[in-house]
Amino acid sequence: MNYGHSNFSHLYIERAAEKYAMTKHLLSRFSKAKRIFIDNYKDVFARPGQHFQTQKRSIKLILAVKRGHLIYQGSNNAQDFGYSNFHYNANILNCVYNCDYCYLQGMYPSANIVVFVNMEDYFSATNIAINQRTDPDAPLYLAISYDTDLLALESIVPYCREWIEYSRKKNNLLIEIRTKSANYRSLNNLSPHDQVILAWSLAPKTVASRYEINTPSLERRLESASQAIDDGWSVRLCFDPILLVPNWREIYSQFVKETFEKIPAEKIRDISIGTFRMNSEYLKRIKKQRADSDILYFPYETTGRVVSPSQKIKEEINSEISMFLESYIDQKKIEVWV
Ligand code: SF4
Repeated sequence: MNYGHSNFSHLYIERAAEKYAMTKHLLSRFSKAKRIFIDNYKDVFARPGQHFQTQKRSIKLILAVKRGHLIYQGSNNAQDFGYSNFHYNANILNCVYNCDYCYLQGMYPSANIVVFVNMEDYFSATNIAINQRTDPDAPLYLAISYDTDLLALESIVPYCREWIEYSRKKNNLLIEIRTKSANYRSLNNLSPHDQVILAWSLAPKTVASRYEINTPSLERRLESASQAIDDGWSVRLCFDPILLVPNWREIYSQFVKETFEKIPAEKIRDISIGTFRMNSEYLKRIKKQRADSDILYFPYETTGRVVSPSQKIKEEINSEISMFLESYIDQKKIEVWV
């Protein structure tokens, strides 16, 4: 199992975070780590002059109390699957993986992982959001693994489990846990629950090994998704971002075939597909720090504040990939980001 960084050498702890159960748990889990007490996580996380990719080589853990907004309206760059009340939250900032196309490199000043320990406040904010949702006929749709990969960290910070248990007690809530991990076994003693979608982001082997550093192989992700399906969970597959690599047609058609050799297509809840897209400012920042990834340097087009392949290329990719998928799954179950 590769968590990337399961042994943190340093823990930065906000003084206000000390009293929380999750802080105590993590202090005991990493009892040998050097402890540094701080007043505000931003003093460490938002320090100027940090180098994201250098920090990725030795990630530190920061424990903090989240103040201010605890739940946000969904971003235009993410798919809402037709759910009108699309929201997301961020219990954890940053990720143990290191995908070349990850927008977090441009969004955050640091690669260190921040764990917000005040879960009860997140639950209270979600209760309010459920009650105040704009469309009362639809549930609050909440993506909880948004600026991180929550399931990848589950054996260290068991937040997926806490959210699943919380959602059991709530009506009008649907949560999505998106992951590239092969870590379903950390949840496999929980009974499945139809207000939770476990969503696996998948990529062809060659794409994953080149552009999704530290992530589990396609095979292991498929095994994990397949076990979740067998246990009765609602599973989504995300073929996103589809990258314009040489021979992409052959590579992605083979990948779709491999996926459905392992996964029973009729048991999938739905599939999302989408091409690379990123906030233009984030991409600019990332390019200043790294010249080592060709996908960051493709001649993308900028529309508003979003960078992506041209409309023509997007349409071509989306239509080809949809066609591959439609041999296995009903078109209505395929959500395309355009
Ligand atoms: S798994 Fe997602 S959050 Fe993590 S590095 Fe990759 S793209 Fe970013």
